[in-house]
Amino acid sequence: MRRLLAAALLWLCLLPPAWTQATRCEAEVRRAAATLGQIYRQWPLRPTGDRVEQGAQYVAARLGRNETSSGRQWRVHVVRDTKLNAFSIGDGHIFLTEGMLRFVANEGELAAVIAHEFGHHLAGHFCTTARKRGFVGGLFGGHEGEGATRSRVGTLTAVVDPQKEREADRIATVVLERAGYDPHHALELAMRVARSGSPAHFQYKHRIEALQELLAGRPPDPITQPDSGEFLEMKRTLWREDALR
Ligand SMILES: [Zn+2]
Repeated sequence: MRRLLAAALLWLCLLPPAWTQATRCEAEVRRAAATLGQIYRQWPLRPTGDRVEQGAQYVAARLGRNETSSGRQWRVHVVRDTKLNAFSIGDGHIFLTEGMLRFVANEGELAAVIAHEFGHHLAGHFCTTARKRGFVGGLFGGHEGEGATRSRVGTLTAVVDPQKEREADRIATVVLERAGYDPHHALELAMRVARSGSPAHFQYKHRIEALQELLAGRPPDPITQPDSGEFLEMKRTLWREDALR
């Protein structure tokens, strides 16, 4: 029995971990709180608890059920913006634009967007040293490495680092699978965004190639999962609002 237990333990130790979940650090919490205050003051956000926000939050909660050990409360905010965008500021705060919520074709694609943001958190991309005023390296989950590009989001500066994007995508595939979503949704979405000509960071060609590499040898799930009532209600609310414009 003891030998069996020792063998099992050794086997477990030899198993490569999917990744080491980075817990939130003090700097991340502090910076996220400051950025959140800035965003609340300056950006038009949908009210907490409305149908659109609830639909997105439902998907985040489904993904987050398996990702509790990092100590973060996963919270989705919806920005009233027609542009295609998704980004994070750390400490579990994820921002999605209405444009992105309109664009996703199904719940799996929305899960892929949110799982990618989980990936930035779980990789520890927000635990960085202090930055200069007005600079939020954590937006989009990047910080400056080789090949990083900067862009403005309102009064904040965002950085997209290709290496960090690949890391977030790698983690996202595991997060998606654990929650019962087919990770191929991430690739489908990236390809659709790329074709749309949007300046969103999903369109980067190297990201599509990296996703193709990640998913090579893993055939798509042959059974299409139905969208949840929460997701469909979110879509219906957006359609109704569009019809009234
Ligand atoms: Zn990203």
